[in-house]
Amino acid sequence: MALPIVAVVGRPNVGKSTFVNRIAGAQDAIVHEMRGVTRDRSYHEADWNGVHFTLIDTGGIEMGNEDAFQKSIRDQAIMATEEADAIVFLVDGKTGSSPDDLEVARILKRSGKPVMLAVNKMDAPGKEDGIWEFYSLGLGDPWPISSVHGHGTGDLLDEIVSHIKDIEVEEEEEVDSINVAIIGRPNAGKSSLTNRLIGRDRTIVSDVAGTTRDAVDTVVEHDGKLYTIVDTAGLRKRTKIDEDVEYYSFVRAMRAIDRADVAILVIDATLGLTDQDQRVAGFAAERGCAMVVLMNKRDIVESGEALDELRETINDRLVFVNYAPVISISALTGKGVLRIWDAVDTVYENFSSQVSTSKLNAWLQGIREFGHTVSKGKKVLKMKYVTQTCTCPPEFTFFCNHPELINDNYERFLENRLRQSFDLTGTPVRFKFKRKD
Ligand code: GDP
Ligand code: GDP
Repeated sequence: MALPIVAVVGRPNVGKSTFVNRIAGAQDAIVHEMRGVTRDRSYHEADWNGVHFTLIDTGGIEMGNEDAFQKSIRDQAIMATEEADAIVFLVDGKTGSSPDDLEVARILKRSGKPVMLAVNKMDAPGKEDGIWEFYSLGLGDPWPISSVHGHGTGDLLDEIVSHIKDIEVEEEEEVDSINVAIIGRPNAGKSSLTNRLIGRDRTIVSDVAGTTRDAVDTVVEHDGKLYTIVDTAGLRKRTKIDEDVEYYSFVRAMRAIDRADVAILVIDATLGLTDQDQRVAGFAAERGCAMVVLMNKRDIVESGEALDELRETINDRLVFVNYAPVISISALTGKGVLRIWDAVDTVYENFSSQVSTSKLNAWLQGIREFGHTVSKGKKVLKMKYVTQTCTCPPEFTFFCNHPELINDNYERFLENRLRQSFDLTGTPVRFKFKRKD
């Protein structure tokens, strides 16, 4: 399910990261485990009084020359107004207001989105004279806060949450279908592919436009099953900020992935794999989506060897989703497109599968007999029992004598073995280890 987005905007050093860390705190989980993430923006999961939301920290923008600096502030403000459901505009109560603040305020005001003006670094409650000058920004009453000490942040969060708490609810009316997100760089061929997938059947059940503002959902029936296809290309065609289409497509992909069962990563085979493909794939894996990777535009790829090479690059650089099937297609000619449905069905089946406990324990017996284990001093890991504790994606809980001994290598060993014995093509798996003496 998509979470409402709250963007934190402000000049460098006003305390955005400090603020975000205070609010997201230990729950900060979205991005830091992803590989290949650049630190241009970060996404954090947060909740307040049971309302969950995504915080975007627009910090980390590099200060170039003065012009570039002002432009980047403008850009973040514009992006925030496009993407966010609510905006926290953070200013610095110690240094006071600056001309940049005024410009940002103007942009934010025009958006019509809820904007909370937070005056940070008000470390001494009661001594709040510094906030008066910020009334001139025309954003209503400023909220004095101290991100370091926490004063005022609770009240501010109450206010933020009052603006976003109903957004989640709207999105809960979902059709019972396999949710498929089509993700990838701009021009990779997402729209073309979506049209293929939707058009061929001509059995469009409904157009749920506006379920989210940033992607168009189409419910389509294929072989008696319903699929909700979420094309993340939509908004780009409407936005005017061409420079940052990459960023937009990333944010949209994130939101789509949040709701997806299966992510279809479309790679432009004529351009090869990009960093953003890697980021998005990492994100989908982290969020537990099943995945299919498409090498699109095969009709204009020079040779079979070029495709093989790309396949190898994908195997290397997307090794963390090496369970995903890789298919070459042409969204333009339709070649290979039929295989996508089969792939989606397969990966979804595995994603939602439940492996019987008896089969799992027969498998575990084999692992024990194989003899590979980990030890530390006198402690030797003994696996006792395993059972599947969740689906979508499958989660397996292992009971063992010393869970603390388990390391990444051993986990990978188990995962490889598990995948050799059970068909888990296309789906990530999760492991938990619990103590049982
Ligand atoms: P960002 O560039 O906007 O993300 O700002 P940072 O979060 O990195 O903070 C910039 C500096 O301001 C750091 O040295 C912080 O410790 C400091 N800072 C942030 N919030 C507060 C606050 O509430 N009070 C004080 N006194 N300093 C703060
Ligand atoms: P999106 O931005 O990812 O939605 O990409 P589009 O679907 O808009 O496609 C971008 C461009 O690539 C368009 O000009 C498409 O006609 C072209 N395109 C998409 N798929 C293919 C393909 O399989 N082969 C060729 N030759 N062109 C394609």
